[in-house]
Formats: sequence, structure tokens, C-alpha cells
Amino acid sequence: MTRPQWCSETIIPSVRMSYKASRILARVKTAYQKAVVFENESFGRVLMLDDAVQTSTADEFVYHEMLAHVPLFTHAGAADVLIIGGGDCGLADEVLKHEAVRSVTQVEIDAKVTELAREYFADINGSVFSDPRFELHHGDGAAFVRTTEKSFDVALIDSTDPVGPGRVLFEPEFYAAVRKRLKPGGVLVVQAGVPFLQKHSFSMAIRNLASTFAVVECYLLTSPTYFGGHMALGWASESLKPDSVSLETLMERHAASGLKTRYYTPQVHKAAFALPPYIGEMLARAKEAR
Ligand code: SAM
Repeated sequence: MTRPQWCSETIIPSVRMSYKASRILARVKTAYQKAVVFENESFGRVLMLDDAVQTSTADEFVYHEMLAHVPLFTHAGAADVLIIGGGDCGLADEVLKHEAVRSVTQVEIDAKVTELAREYFADINGSVFSDPRFELHHGDGAAFVRTTEKSFDVALIDSTDPVGPGRVLFEPEFYAAVRKRLKPGGVLVVQAGVPFLQKHSFSMAIRNLASTFAVVECYLLTSPTYFGGHMALGWASESLKPDSVSLETLMERHAASGLKTRYYTPQVHKAAFALPPYIGEMLARAKEAR
């Protein structure tokens, strides 16, 4: 009998999460990171980069629906969307479900990750690559934002944690460069970590967003893949406030879109901005520290 293989993620130095891999599908060293794709009985197919879980086919809908639909149903008229990172392409799949979206520009640093995503994660990104609205660039997202002349209604940062190549995507210079590329009324949403376990990542993201944007908030989701309690997404805009749209309007927009969602609903959208005090206080402190 072969011994089970375990793939472990060290979430912080004192906490490790292990997944029993029923099958390892790929294990490669890319130019930027170590990538592993494996199968797990509860999570389905899982992508790990540098020993950190990025996505799983069983629960990706939670994170991808909340990262895409909360800003897109709030903005409503978004036509041009920028995605930085997002190598598994599950986020682009959700964004492209919005008919008003006419272009999705995605900048992923690691071509090998998108190659693995095409090969092993077609269940979550199947329709993306043949969609004429989708434009994929391989390169550093920070460099792209500094040099592009395009403008966007919504920018989504689907990054790894602030170590390795993802570090620049949490810096104030990067957020300032994104701000210049947003159209009036535009909004930026960023992956801001799990506040309970990743206090530093969360506070850094919020502090740096607050040093750049007039409106900074955060909202929450609970995804088994991102272990340790609620995961936070940071919201930043010059003018678009998340509470500027009523529940009734969100319900109308959601119904008109015909989208079938498994985590997102207009009620979940609204509730996601209600913060437990321990997170609300961290948010307030990080905003004050800007
Ligand atoms: N949802 C995931 C999470 O929070 O764990 C993130 C998923 S997505 C796979 C993260 C992607 O960001 C990776 O494919 C990684 O290669 C990419 N990435 C990291 N740094 C980047 C950079 N500077 N520019 C563009 N993409 C970057």
C-alpha cells in the first residue's frame, strides 16, 4: 500500500494546514514559484503556489463570486475590467458573465500558472479563453499598470500573499498607479488576507489603500480554502461608496443579469460589509495609520 501524500500550507509560522492528496497531477518549479496541482477528496482539484493554496474547484465560487460581483453590481455600468494576478482564471470567468463588460484585461506574471489552469482547471475557467472580450498578458502587474494607457471601471487584484512576486501588489506605489488608471466612479478591490491570522497583510493592504484613495472599506467572505476565519477584500475608490446602492437596486440588477450564483446574493453582498468589531477595529486602526 502506498503511503498517502500530504500537501501542507504554512499559513503563518505557528499554523499549518495539510491536505491529503489522492493524486498529484503536476509539480513544477516555474520562473517565479513552486506550483503543485493535486486532488483532494473534499476540495477537488487544488492549486498551490509556494506551498500556499490558491484555489480549489470545490469552493472557488465563494471567493471569485464575491471578488467579481460585489464591485460589478455596485458599479453597474462597468465596461472595462482589469484583473491583476488571477492565474487560475476563475475570476475572469465570473467577470465575463456580466453582459455589460466589454473587455477584461488580465495581467498574470506566471505563464506556467495559466498553462496549468488551462490544463487542469477547465471546470472553473472553461469559457474564458475563447471569449473575444478576454485579453491575457503575461508580466508583472505593477509594471503593466505603470505603463498602460488603458482606463478601467473596475480593477481586481487577485494576488498571492505579500511575499515573493505578489509583494509589489500590496505597495502604495502600486495602488497609486491603479488609481490613475481608474475612470471616474471606478473601484479597486483587492485580496486583503484573513484578518485573524494574517493581521499584517490585512493592515498593510488597508493602510496603503487609505494612503491613496478617499473611500476605503472592506468586506468579508468565508471560504474553507482560506483557513482561519473570515477573508477580507479591500474596497477602494475616489467616489464610489459601497453603501451607495440599496438592497432593492442590487436585487433588481442581480435579477436582470440572470446570473446563477452559489454564494453571492444581494443580501450576502450587503451583509458582507457588516464587520465583527474585532475586524472593524483593525480596519479603523489601519486607516488611521495611513
Ligand atoms: N485567490 C488566490 C489567493 O488569494 O490565494 C490568488 C489566486 S491567483 C492564482 C494569484 C496569482 O497572482 C498567481 O497566479 C501569481 O502568479 C500571480 N501574481 C503574483 N504576483 C504577481 C504580480 N506581481 N503580477 C501579476 N501577477 C502576480
